Amino acid sequence: AMRILTGLQPSGKLHVGNYFGAMEPAVKLQEEGDAFYFIANYHAMTTVRDAAELRAYTRELAVDFLACGLDPERSVFFRQSDVPEVNELAWILSTVCPISLLEKCHSYKDKVAKGFSPSHGLFAYPVLMAADILLYDSNQVPVGKDQKQHLEVTRDLAGKINEAYGEGTLVVPEPIIRESVAVVPGLDGQKMSKSYGNTLPLFGEEKPSKKLIMRIKTDSTPVEEPKPVADSLILPLFRLFADEDAYREMVARHESGGTGYGDFKKQLAEAYWDYFAPMRAKREELVSDPGFVDEVLAKGAEKARAAAAITLDRVRQAVGL
Ligand code: ATP
Ligand code: MG
Repeated sequence: AMRILTGLQPSGKLHVGNYFGAMEPAVKLQEEGDAFYFIANYHAMTTVRDAAELRAYTRELAVDFLACGLDPERSVFFRQSDVPEVNELAWILSTVCPISLLEKCHSYKDKVAKGFSPSHGLFAYPVLMAADILLYDSNQVPVGKDQKQHLEVTRDLAGKINEAYGEGTLVVPEPIIRESVAVVPGLDGQKMSKSYGNTLPLFGEEKPSKKLIMRIKTDSTPVEEPKPVADSLILPLFRLFADEDAYREMVARHESGGTGYGDFKKQLAEAYWDYFAPMRAKREELVSDPGFVDEVLAKGAEKARAAAAITLDRVRQAVGL
């Protein structure tokens, strides 16, 4: 059977890029196998240094993911820290992990360059990520291009364990590279990213969110003249929320001239708001029923721990613990 695993860090408010790049694909993949989805709160500790904040982001991510269509009847949904056994496997993996392998990973350098403290946790992040994957005998891991290198580390470490302690000790996972998932551009045209401050929130307040769209930078082409299509910051976002016809119509109105940027932005703001309306409604429901969310996470933790125990027993046996 196909066992799929995905984790998301509770390190900030979710944005439209996270939705199209991670959550929507994860929700679709539920149909294709056993999905294990977790809230990576141990990982988030490398950048979030406030207990109340970490707790709030964790809670919010649980609610948001469920609102986006994660089905707890079908998938196992849990908090990483509810299965502390993952740390034991991370330790075991670290004993076969060459330092040079971690030194090659660019995420550590990137984060330090962004000003995060160069902690051991940040450096060893790929080892814990490998443990996340290997603990559940995951054989399929959907990853964006940014995570490809970490999955290679995971495969390497599983291979080293199997070499040292016997084939079959760990399942070597295959990546599902999401080539089709495009990078969602931010409001300034760079990749939409929390750390660039150019995001459109997934579940923000209506007025401030729409205001962000109205502030997208445009050139000074007069209303009556044709607008450049290629460097538009409005069109690629509109395409995410609009159907094919509405998108083509907006392109045509760029080319013909006669419509000002303000009108295009208003249309984009409406489309964005409407697109997430069903999820927003679901989210309201979940917020008003905290007991349900607790129960989902508790049940998820139980199932995840049961799966983890099978792997960890096998590994402990194999390594002599
Ligand atoms: P940071 O700036 O801290 O890296 P981020 O906004 O890039 O944060 P991540 O936590 O790195 O968000 O990413 C969570 C998930 O969302 C990952 O699977 C990542 O590939 C995906 N993702 C993030 N930004 C985008 C984007 N602009 N387009 C598509 N997918 C994205
Ligand atoms: Mg990122």
